[in-house]
Amino acid sequence: MRYEAVIGLEIHAQMLTDSKIFCGCSTKFGAEPNSQTCPVCTGMPGVLPVLNKRVVEYAIKAGLALDCDISRHSRFARKNYFYPDLPKGYQISQYELPICENGHIDIVTEGKSRKVGITRIHMEEDAGKNLHGSEKGYSYVDLNRTGVPLIEIVTEPDIRTPAEAAVFMRTLRSIVRYLGVCDGNMEQGSLRCDANVSVRPEGADELGTKAEIKNINSFRFVEKAVEYEIKRQISVIEDGGSVVQETRLFDSEKGTTHSMRSKEEAHDYRYFPDPDLVPLEVSEDWIAEIRRAMPELPGQKKDRFMREIGLPEHDADILSEERDVAEWFEHVIKEGADAKSAANWMINELLRLVGDEGIQVSESKVKPDQLARMLVLIDDGTIIGKIAKKVFSKMYETGMEHGKIVEEEGLEQISDSSELEGIVDKVLGSNPDEVERFKGGDHKLMGFFVGHIMKETKGKANPKLVNELIRKKMGS
Ligand code: ADP
Ligand code: ZN
Ligand code: MG
Repeated sequence: MRYEAVIGLEIHAQMLTDSKIFCGCSTKFGAEPNSQTCPVCTGMPGVLPVLNKRVVEYAIKAGLALDCDISRHSRFARKNYFYPDLPKGYQISQYELPICENGHIDIVTEGKSRKVGITRIHMEEDAGKNLHGSEKGYSYVDLNRTGVPLIEIVTEPDIRTPAEAAVFMRTLRSIVRYLGVCDGNMEQGSLRCDANVSVRPEGADELGTKAEIKNINSFRFVEKAVEYEIKRQISVIEDGGSVVQETRLFDSEKGTTHSMRSKEEAHDYRYFPDPDLVPLEVSEDWIAEIRRAMPELPGQKKDRFMREIGLPEHDADILSEERDVAEWFEHVIKEGADAKSAANWMINELLRLVGDEGIQVSESKVKPDQLARMLVLIDDGTIIGKIAKKVFSKMYETGMEHGKIVEEEGLEQISDSSELEGIVDKVLGSNPDEVERFKGGDHKLMGFFVGHIMKETKGKANPKLVNELIRKKMGS
């Protein structure tokens, strides 16, 4: 029997607002525990929440980017449960009327595009953080995170493989980072994902029973957790058992999942509309205004890089995934550099250097116009590629102009024909056999001569001039 996996993701993304969703407390990460709290986010009796407009704007932005319908009317609800990190005894979330519905994301894996439906996006507040083990016999709670704004994005069960799940997360991360609504940091928890997984016989219409996997905190783990869970469910079925609906935790050290709670132990949250918050009404005008301010998104940029500039898909992917990389690239082209060489230099040199240093492209000392000026000189043959690479890493280190580095390092090109002539004579003189063969018509040997001359001049000879001189000496 062959099986097919079915995967749906539930993603929490922390919104990049300065203040929390229902009070004015700061959302800054890493502050002294409980220093960013007030009566509202610690759930004191008698306080009232006030909705942060920026959170709604960001949720709408995300909705528009994922092609959702934006609800003119939506509502907040109370999701009731008890846990020490939730001082109110309920979480304010959206339930039957979310802010966005019916969207989709197109993901591309192995050259094939697949449409993954977005069921809904809703806004909610985050809970606090319990701290165990710092002192024997005690547990503490840090409420800095209570009330930090989140959106939850729920997908349709449209994903079929672990690789697609990982690509979906990367695509989504790229989009929310472009929009500036979330920093997309899975390790720090500002982008979190639960994976719902089931399996069924290939070709079946009905869905199998799903397990929900929590605690996945990196892109690599999305793929690993889903992969493990698919194998586990198949072997349960092959052994004559049946999959039980439950919540499971991913153990990143073992690469396995284990049961956390079954359906019977699932919470009944007793959702009801929050009486402290008026229903949310957003105007068409405001939605239109947000739509007008939308940046070009990574998928559109990628398509444009392929269509207008003719970049191969692989390069277009790399250059469009991060907004600052894409904008740096576009800046280089705007300064007059050839797009394909700009792409090559960015991918092979700049992104490598930036990656080694662990910084953003926008933080690098070398600027787009500097690379552009250098590329123009490479293209017209004034600078040779090999030397340019050396010069470029110096530009990267220092932020200096290439001309200055060339001068200081004595890397100027030898374009003086009398100086080069001596070297050409020497090389031809010490390779008489090759000279004879060249004269006899074996013109492929040109590369051999040029190579020797470059070696003699440490790569500094003007290649055009060297070519001319050799032809002249050979009488061809
Ligand atoms: P629940 O009632 O457990 O919250 P939902 O129907 O609301 O389940 O779906 C939650 C998530 O699980 C969604 O992302 C959805 O696409 C996914 N999902 C639902 N059913 C299945 C299934 N049988 N297999 C895999 N994923 C599923
Ligand atoms: Zn507060
Ligand atoms: Mg549900």
